[in-house]
Amino acid sequence: MERRKFIHKFGAGALAGTGLLAACSNNTQPCEEGKQATGKTIQWKMVTTWPKNFPGLGTGAEYLAQTINELSGGRMAVKVYGAGELVPAFEIFDYVSAGGAEMGHGGAYYWKGKNEAFQFFASVPFGLTANEINAWMQFGGGLQLWQEAYEPFGLLPFPAGNTTVQMAGWFNKKINTIADLKGLKMRIPGLGGEVLKRAGGTPVSLPGGELFTSLQTGTIDATEWVGPYNDLAFGLHKAARYYYYPGWHEPGTILECFINKDAFNKLPDDLQSIVINAAKVANHNMQLEYIARNNAALESLVTEHQVEVLRLPDEVLQKLQDIAKDVVAEIADKTPFSRKVYQSFMDFREPVRNWQDISEKAFLNIRGQ
Ligand code: CA
Repeated sequence: MERRKFIHKFGAGALAGTGLLAACSNNTQPCEEGKQATGKTIQWKMVTTWPKNFPGLGTGAEYLAQTINELSGGRMAVKVYGAGELVPAFEIFDYVSAGGAEMGHGGAYYWKGKNEAFQFFASVPFGLTANEINAWMQFGGGLQLWQEAYEPFGLLPFPAGNTTVQMAGWFNKKINTIADLKGLKMRIPGLGGEVLKRAGGTPVSLPGGELFTSLQTGTIDATEWVGPYNDLAFGLHKAARYYYYPGWHEPGTILECFINKDAFNKLPDDLQSIVINAAKVANHNMQLEYIARNNAALESLVTEHQVEVLRLPDEVLQKLQDIAKDVVAEIADKTPFSRKVYQSFMDFREPVRNWQDISEKAFLNIRGQ
């Protein structure tokens, strides 16, 4: 059916829904320069640092893509690529920056080599929980700072998932004192890795897909990954005996999506809004998934796989916290921008901690007792 007859029969709304009418293609408004006005579906690629469809993380990227596809009524189609399918895990930032793909899905601390302040946009040891860091992003200026940080790379970042509090990791020896971390070669990214280094360990950064083999072959002595739901999927319990908590180094890690700005700017306004709001939905959805699924996986690890779940001693946690305080504060001294990010983060953390103490924390401490 030719276009005019189709509009006559079904109305312009039908065309918008089928992707045949883009936002700026009507005849009464001139097309905004550079915007895509096309009857064709806009095809985007999303490269990720996760194995394809890995529970929570890879499926979270798929969920984001699917949400964009659905909210756009099929006007956009985002195809997700697992780590290594188009580019290796740790090359996605540069790849999207260069325009090889329109979107990436990863964690900001993987790119700390470009700017150490990026780590504040993933997770800070003893920093903020999932709800708190989302509140900083949305209402405390965090997102504006993050977007300023990625601006020189032509990227626009958004939170697109959260692991909630992670586990401290997998070990083959018990950690009774801080000295037990000495000489330990452990996969632990970001600022947590720097804390381990100052406690005498050797931090290594490896993509998730390499953890099991590295641990099993003894290339590393210990590893952290995420939490029970993800760690069970990787089979880390087959390579280590002790599973420690809490994840002091990652109390609420943001998974990011970043978008090539040129590609984003070409979208009509409504599709830009759809992409932004799909990221918000995906961000929330992943957080809920971890809360819903972690405990079943933990039970399976304990009852079916005889994993020993242990709490890091208070003395160890306190020493790690003391080190973390210095490590995080030193980032602030690197550049005026990192000072600004640090200050914003800390200015938000203190009052939020006061409120949490008499709200969530007070409630959780008494519930079930
Ligand atoms: Ca982790």
